[in-house]
Amino acid sequence: MPKEFFEQRERTLLGERYETLYSAPSKTAARGVTVNLLRCTPEWFADHAGLSVSPSPFCSAGLLIEDPAVKLGRHPYHHAGAFYSQEPSASAPAAMLDVQPGMKVLDLCAAPGGKSSQLAAALGGEGLLVSNEYDGGRAVILRQNLERMGVANAVVLNETPARIAAALPGFFDQVLVDAPCSGEGMFRKEPQALAQHGPGLVAQCAALGSEILDAAAACLAPSGVLVYSTCTFAPEEDEGQVGAFLARHPEFELLPWPDRFGSPGEANRCGEYPFEAEKTRRIWPCQGGEGHFMAKLRKAAPEETGKTARVKPAKAAKPNAAWQAFAGEYFPQLAGLPTMQLEDMVLLMPEGMPALKLHVLRAGVLAGTVQKNRFVPAHHLFTAFGGGCTNREELTLADARTQAWLRGEEIEARTAHSGWCCVTVDGMPLSGGKVSGGKVKNHLPKALRNLG
Ligand code: SAM
Repeated sequence: MPKEFFEQRERTLLGERYETLYSAPSKTAARGVTVNLLRCTPEWFADHAGLSVSPSPFCSAGLLIEDPAVKLGRHPYHHAGAFYSQEPSASAPAAMLDVQPGMKVLDLCAAPGGKSSQLAAALGGEGLLVSNEYDGGRAVILRQNLERMGVANAVVLNETPARIAAALPGFFDQVLVDAPCSGEGMFRKEPQALAQHGPGLVAQCAALGSEILDAAAACLAPSGVLVYSTCTFAPEEDEGQVGAFLARHPEFELLPWPDRFGSPGEANRCGEYPFEAEKTRRIWPCQGGEGHFMAKLRKAAPEETGKTARVKPAKAAKPNAAWQAFAGEYFPQLAGLPTMQLEDMVLLMPEGMPALKLHVLRAGVLAGTVQKNRFVPAHHLFTAFGGGCTNREELTLADARTQAWLRGEEIEARTAHSGWCCVTVDGMPLSGGKVSGGKVKNHLPKALRNLG
């Protein structure tokens, strides 16, 4: 039944265009990576990763992967956070926010973290990214992915959008809502998306998306920009959702989407609230990727939206002596930075961190723990700042020790001296290690190793 419901609706809306728009260029789902600009440029990646790639039309940091069999998750550059494997069209929405270093940015539906890592890269380490995921298990994966990508200025939350809106009204310059949706763009990649599909699911997702959008509107500062996206074709979740939002929120205007890829949104999908649907964007299967819908909206200036509540900044802790001594030796550039302390954990506080009574999974960088007055560095410290560690074991992609390290083995020390070190591959951090007797003891967390 789900297939009939979908096909009938789309044939009615598209008429003769149905066959063309839904004809995918290849039988297998498109694969892509988004290069992490905190680590390298797409050009450098294309020259050094040893993969066959071509530029993506959807985002300047995106690359299409030509070999469907390549195991991207085992690639040393994946461990080094140089890229995020992402279905190509999924990289378009985050790239359309105007994120600049120093801004406050919110990603309300963020796991597993593809778009959050793009937003973090656009911030370039300056400003604040609040990355939220409603589902607890997925929020942990989001935290791990942002850690792998070396993001230092994110707060990872496991919250409802409504609670975030109540805690941080008018706080953010830019907000992304990549809504939980009925997933019609996923039918080819995930057959269960088709099995679960139907009119009930579409109605449920449309109602949830509208609640999330209202929370996003409340979080946004005057003149702030909101991007809304889905990976479905369902009118109620796409143009219909945007039309209803504009009717509820006259303080928002729709911004045009540049004509670089895909097609304009469609007027006959607006439902009860007609608007300039051509300013929204669709990516049909025939246009590469698996399908996406997106819209960009701006909130009115302060004179029209009124004052927004002030949010208190978080307080820094007193400097911890064990951390200061460790940082002085291995990370001198971090020694004076504000920290927070939570039981035995020392965290490097992100810039502009607000005081939060929310479920926080990670705030800034977990530098490490203090155990019996000694500082033990955490994996996140190396992924975020390892390139600047004073003691480094420098590996390359061609070096056999790189694969050995990723399997969890001890390796010969050639560039690092005794003590803690950061192990890098082509200059990008893999993890911490500890050198003694000419060997580097492996501190790559067991769960992250290449086994089998
Ligand atoms: N932006 C993510 C990325 O690029 O990796 C993908 C997000 S996915 C399309 C939508 C997310 O919304 C899912 O992780 C889902 O768990 C989450 N979600 C589910 N229910 C939600 C709710 N009530 N409020 C907010 N998010 C919710």
